[in-house]
Amino acid sequence: MTDDDALINAALAARAQAHAPYSHFLVGCAVESTDGAIARGANMENACYRLGVCAEQSALAAAQIAFGLENVVRLAVVGGPRHGGVGDPVMPCGGCRQAIMEAATLSGRDIAVICCDQSGQQQVTTTIGALLPSAFDLPKD
Ligand SMILES: [Zn+2]
Repeated sequence: MTDDDALINAALAARAQAHAPYSHFLVGCAVESTDGAIARGANMENACYRLGVCAEQSALAAAQIAFGLENVVRLAVVGGPRHGGVGDPVMPCGGCRQAIMEAATLSGRDIAVICCDQSGQQQVTTTIGALLPSAFDLPKD
């Protein structure tokens, strides 16, 4: 497993590639696998606002291709205004929490979630189980 700083730095690098011309709120996410591989994503807004994609879901899509959602162990998300200073850690939205829970369900483990501001300095470390208790799931056959 990489250290927290390496994972946060990967999320910061992803954030630098965000497409956020409308909100100017740039978010990056780095997802780590059981063997230390990292997949990254950034938010991608659209002129049709509702078609925007969050950084976490962008990174999870990349992770699915790179190493499979069942191998996700943790992720870091960083975000904040384009020209802001140190701020509050950005937390995954409700939809992203459900998307992260999908990986947790597939892997059978609670996924660690490191939430940071845009500087990577203000951090909250939690788990998807804590962020989304009583998550939606389909009944098993
Ligand atoms: Zn989201």
